Amino acid sequence: MPQPYDRVFNFSAGPSTLPVPVLEKAQAEMMNFRGTGMSLMEMSHRSAPFEEVLHNAEADFRALLGIPDRYKVLFLQGGASTQFATIPMSYLPAGKKARYVITGSWGKKALESAKILGDAEVVWDGKSGNYNDVPNDLALDASDDVAYTHFTSNETIQGVRFSTDPNWGGPLVCDMSSDILSRPVDISKYDLIYAGAQKNMGPAGVAIVVISDEMLAKGPDGLPPMFDYRVHAENDSMYNTPATWGIYICGLVYRHLLDTGGLEAAAERNDRKAKLLYDAIDGSNGFFKGHAVPSARSTMNVTFTLASDDLTKAFLKEAQAKQLDGLKGHRSVGGCRASIYNAFPEEGCQVLADLMRDFASRNG
Ligand SMILES: *Cc1c(COP(=O)(O)O)cnc(C)c1O
Repeated sequence: MPQPYDRVFNFSAGPSTLPVPVLEKAQAEMMNFRGTGMSLMEMSHRSAPFEEVLHNAEADFRALLGIPDRYKVLFLQGGASTQFATIPMSYLPAGKKARYVITGSWGKKALESAKILGDAEVVWDGKSGNYNDVPNDLALDASDDVAYTHFTSNETIQGVRFSTDPNWGGPLVCDMSSDILSRPVDISKYDLIYAGAQKNMGPAGVAIVVISDEMLAKGPDGLPPMFDYRVHAENDSMYNTPATWGIYICGLVYRHLLDTGGLEAAAERNDRKAKLLYDAIDGSNGFFKGHAVPSARSTMNVTFTLASDDLTKAFLKEAQAKQLDGLKGHRSVGGCRASIYNAFPEEGCQVLADLMRDFASRNG
């Protein structure tokens, strides 16, 4: 079936596909935003219409995740990568150490910044298995000398994820960039969650930070204001000009998610979509090899390889001819990666799974 507007099935890892109704709404409101006579992009961030956009986006985001009042929600810039630095700058004082659980490429990058800024210790590293697993049963107790434990709930490049919120002692910090809003999360287990918007929430340019009041109060004095979460919290994410357009689109995505059943329903759709692909991998008699061990399989990024580069190239070519776009894997894993975030349609997973079976039967 041709897709609306001749759109492809967009498996891009990020920035990534957005819900068509969200894009249509943004298009309809583009030239004259809700009777203001201008585009939202052209409007002061101090204006009442934008303040309402920001307020509604936050309220809907809170409703989706069930965020308690004792947490602040910040809409920042600088992507998830800036938070890699701001977090240790803020919460890793001299004399304490931070624990990093490394399950893939993004965790390694977070660690790199932390090491520059303080004492960061690796407590688990999946390197020996080329990051094909996560330590779901790792035990970590609270300790006075531990400032926080950092982990990545879903590693976008390797396609591995934690199946539940970990029960580790002490302040818990999580990079949820590639699976935020893909399933319900128990926010009360965390002290700080952050995510770049461009995987599951909206366009690039917005980073969201959810932080407990307790964690926020631990921030040191003397930070440059742009790197001080308290400054952003006190100014309702308007210390400087926020990414107004990005926040607006995120808000439309949140509303769309609420209107389609919230995160329980999203998780069911995502499980179904991922299962179509993992079943095709598992049913291929080894023609396709999944990168992740089954217990760590991501529902957002499905990574798999074929026996040779030539086969991979031929498969990607056939996929492209079927409007299956962006399936080439990251060089560190090779093969293919199907990024199937919230907004990716189930039909696209079905088309890919059918092609996988067909291709394997012709080339196996
Ligand atoms: C994409 C991604 C990042 C980097 O996000 P930026 O917004 O580009 O800084 C960090 N962590 C994870 C898990 C990601 O998927």
